[in-house]
Amino acid sequence: MSQPSRYDVLFEPVRIGPVTAPNRFYQVPHASGMTNALPRVRAAFRETKAEGGWGVICTGACSIDPSSDDTPLPFASLWDDNDIRAHALMTEAVHRHGALAGVELWHGGACVMNRASRLPPLSPSGTPWMATHIGFMGNLRPKTMDRSDLREVLKWQADAARRARSAGFDIVYVYAGMGYLGYEFLLPEYNQRSDEYGGVIENRVRFVREMIETTQDAVGKDCGVALRISLEELRARPGRNAESEAHEVISLLADCPDLFDVKLDSSPTDCSASRFTGEGSHEPVIEFVKRLTRKPVVGVGRFTSPDTMVSQIRRGILDFIGGARPSIADPFLPRKIREGRVDEIRECIGCNICISSWHDSVPVRCTQNPTAGEEWRRGWHPERVDRAARAERVLVIGAGPAGLECALTLGRRGHHVTLVEAGHAAGGRLTFETRLPGLATWGRVLDYRLGRLNALPNIEMYLDSPVGVDEIIELAPDRVVVATGARWTRMLYATMELPLGQLDHPEVFTPDDIAAGRLPEGPTLIFDFDNYYMGGVLTEHLAGLGIPVRYATPAGHASAWTIMTNELPLVHRALARRAVPVTTLHLLSAFDGETAIMKHVFTAEELRLSCRSILIVGMRTPRDELLSALEERATDIPAAGVLSVQRAGDALAPGAIVHAIHSGHLIGRELGLSERRPYRRDFPLVPLVPLVAGSDAGGGEG
Ligand code: ADP
Ligand code: SF4
Repeated sequence: MSQPSRYDVLFEPVRIGPVTAPNRFYQVPHASGMTNALPRVRAAFRETKAEGGWGVICTGACSIDPSSDDTPLPFASLWDDNDIRAHALMTEAVHRHGALAGVELWHGGACVMNRASRLPPLSPSGTPWMATHIGFMGNLRPKTMDRSDLREVLKWQADAARRARSAGFDIVYVYAGMGYLGYEFLLPEYNQRSDEYGGVIENRVRFVREMIETTQDAVGKDCGVALRISLEELRARPGRNAESEAHEVISLLADCPDLFDVKLDSSPTDCSASRFTGEGSHEPVIEFVKRLTRKPVVGVGRFTSPDTMVSQIRRGILDFIGGARPSIADPFLPRKIREGRVDEIRECIGCNICISSWHDSVPVRCTQNPTAGEEWRRGWHPERVDRAARAERVLVIGAGPAGLECALTLGRRGHHVTLVEAGHAAGGRLTFETRLPGLATWGRVLDYRLGRLNALPNIEMYLDSPVGVDEIIELAPDRVVVATGARWTRMLYATMELPLGQLDHPEVFTPDDIAAGRLPEGPTLIFDFDNYYMGGVLTEHLAGLGIPVRYATPAGHASAWTIMTNELPLVHRALARRAVPVTTLHLLSAFDGETAIMKHVFTAEELRLSCRSILIVGMRTPRDELLSALEERATDIPAAGVLSVQRAGDALAPGAIVHAIHSGHLIGRELGLSERRPYRRDFPLVPLVPLVAGSDAGGGEG
């Protein structure tokens, strides 16, 4: 019999109305970028988490009607019976491992632009929701719901709930969060109705209550009904009869749903990046909920530490440990805790690349877990790799993210791997970047890989070992993987994105200079057209060292691409906190050591800025001296018995860490195979129910 463990509490079953979750690990609804059009990709993605021990596995947003249409952003649907089979594939997969399946039924209200369905968005009072928010912009304002609209939405919810039950779901959601329809009824700014659905809080909760009741009537005793609710904004408002409106709403609904799934209100706070927020950040907002209801409560907070999880349960904050990102980064997190393998957890680093996948409308990608989204498509399992038919001696050059991941994957396949690194430490770009403001958590990319590498006897790592062609010939491995990374350049670009050439001046720096400990003399202009985190982070870093800095970019925002990772508002706040002036929409054209000449990207109007130095955060190119040298001695390499030389990561194509890890993993999986593994293409399931008369091919009368 196994010894009792302090984590046993996490593995207790918990009832959710008529159904029982096998443990407290609850994968809350989260976007996967996998619509009903990718049913096998989606089922395999969710199944892997059930296999890894998550007790409840939910879908992402699942629209109940074409009037809730987020196209081109990805979402699921249960609009008619033809949608059932795609979901059944997932519920069957989840049930195979003893987990419960939940569906997040969703009506987007004024938040959706109905770009494809072309129906008017619906809202309590015709108030648009963030309709000018970049990335969600639309110019269709919502219709004010009349009584028949209210009845219709309740009917759509009931119909979708019945379909969900037919698809095999155990938990059916009512969604009242994140600006979507139910939430819009709760907040007086959106809900200015003068009927029994508006005004005092008792009226504003009426629609949500009716949504819960209609769902319960639809599914009967077969499914638990969960309420997902955002509480940040409500908590900030004093209540008439309680501490806040959030307290009032929970009290009024305390006995209605079978489970409360509580969260924050906007993506940047609800799903905040680790750069700005730590583990368990929701607690101050949601900690009161359990005191007001006897129903189980699930919440999130990028939980990866089992001790934090136990503390949440013991202190009465949560009944279920909700996870979205931690379940993507490590689908096997619960099993690793249960089996006493905590040190093997692939902890989420909070980079939010997974969120960017949703904004990009593609299946989820994860920096830490290169197999996420590839379970069906490439047949990748996060914990298993196929053994190599023949163990080979592989030399991996460069111990950055790509080299580490490649070496680890090759080692797991049984190859004899020699990993060499020129620097004093493993980690590549991360040895520097994890020392920058807010990026320490990214060190988990290294911690996980180094921990696993050390556990494998067939991998040897050598630091302080720059390798050239002579060393390769001397070592004479069967195969070579070059993961030597990339370097930042001083290249500038014109408005039409045409390269202008390098900006050569002794006081022009790149991030590599800063990494090497060479600091600019201020005032320094940071000119960023990389647009991801590096420009903003280095600005914070230099400002923190007391160097006067100004940030400039041709984009419309600082670190413009971080809109994709929910970080953009927080980047601006961080720069403002350090009183950094920000100049947007300007290109750098010249610098003479005293003045930087900038041009407005639209008007070409000149702006002259006094500065002593410039840090260009722009283009990167592969660090490919070794590759060029190898090419020059093309005949010597096969003569030494080397069968192949391949590039990985930034040495192949400079990108973010997510790209480097995926590249290293792909090469690790496929090295030595006679053929590339197929990249399987998913397709929608053929409808079982005949299409509406006249709507099929030809569609004509007569
Ligand atoms: P990636 O993100 O692709 O892993 P990094 O730049 O983070 O790239 O890491 C590349 C690593 O390769 C760096 O740690 C660098 O020191 C190392 N490296 C570069 N050239 C050589 C070489 N010739 N021999 C050994 N290591 C090298
Ligand atoms: Fe975590 Fe980053 Fe993976 Fe998302 S992409 S799950 S934030 S490690």
